[in-house]
Amino acid sequence: MEILDGKKAAQAIKDELKMEVAQLAVEGKKIPHLAAILVGNNGASETYVAAKVKACDEVGFKSTLVRFEADIPSVKLLEKVQELNNDPDVDGILVQLPLPKHIRESDVIDAIDPDKDVDGFHPVNIGKMLQGLPSFVPATPHGIMLLLEHFKVETKGKHAVVVGRSNIVGRPMSILLSSNSNPGNCTVTICHSHTKNLKELCLQADIIVAALGKPEFVTADMVKDGAVVVDVGITRVEDSSRKTGFKLKGDVHFESVAPKCSWITPVPGGVGPMTIAALMKNTFVSCKLKN
Ligand code: NDP
Repeated sequence: MEILDGKKAAQAIKDELKMEVAQLAVEGKKIPHLAAILVGNNGASETYVAAKVKACDEVGFKSTLVRFEADIPSVKLLEKVQELNNDPDVDGILVQLPLPKHIRESDVIDAIDPDKDVDGFHPVNIGKMLQGLPSFVPATPHGIMLLLEHFKVETKGKHAVVVGRSNIVGRPMSILLSSNSNPGNCTVTICHSHTKNLKELCLQADIIVAALGKPEFVTADMVKDGAVVVDVGITRVEDSSRKTGFKLKGDVHFESVAPKCSWITPVPGGVGPMTIAALMKNTFVSCKLKN
């Protein structure tokens, strides 16, 4: 069993970006600028946004963090998105999800200029991705593809089972894995909470992507020998022995599943860092395309 080390692969991507940004600076060209919007004070969202801002610092991007109270009227948030759309210095805009209940997430996603939609959630980018056209690909599935590419995991002709069909992870993941590319060219089965024979389907999988948000859901009896297992899940589980009061759990029962795998991602240190690396890559591309 080998570890799909997301920290290592993400570091390699960030190191390359750092060199390219340094080159832009030498040439007097524009440095990429990511603007992040955080609404409210959800602990996990705070952590994710802080990690994204830190990654910008590491690679030499400019970043702006815009914070709003949880009760901000939707219209005010949309005004801010418009302002960032119109700001020529801003290359990428991300609105950290989830948003408070009174704000319709799709309204906010639709308001972002598709050319600055570095999270890749805008319908224009999703549509282009479906057609195999150049687009901003949602950061988590994009990061997973980069991870498979980094470790040269063979995907051609494999049967991939994606558990979860969300717009930000499961669905785009299924599209990318089935696309005519490398990595890609898998035969994909996508599962959800109404899938009847999930265990049997997982047992047929050469590659499992677990993205359902249920800690340690995928157990050894669901995984065939030699499978590649990608664990997207991050759930905060209470743990009074830790200073934070919680620990992070993936969707895969790592201890029992890992010995059966050819490759497996750890949690933390697998998909999480790759999501951020993919976001950095998207922001860099956005800046280059515009300048
Ligand atoms: P969602 O809650 O939006 O989607 C979960 C999906 O899992 C749904 O499609 C749901 O089915 C399906 N599901 C739920 N229970 C079952 C079950 N028992 N059997 C089969 N399918 C099931 O979650 P997200 O896609 O946003 O996130 C999934 C996980 O990934 C979460 O833990 C999240 O924190 C993590 N995540 C990690 C990221 C990273 O960078 N590492 C980035 C984004 C997310 P149905 O559609 O029928 O409800």
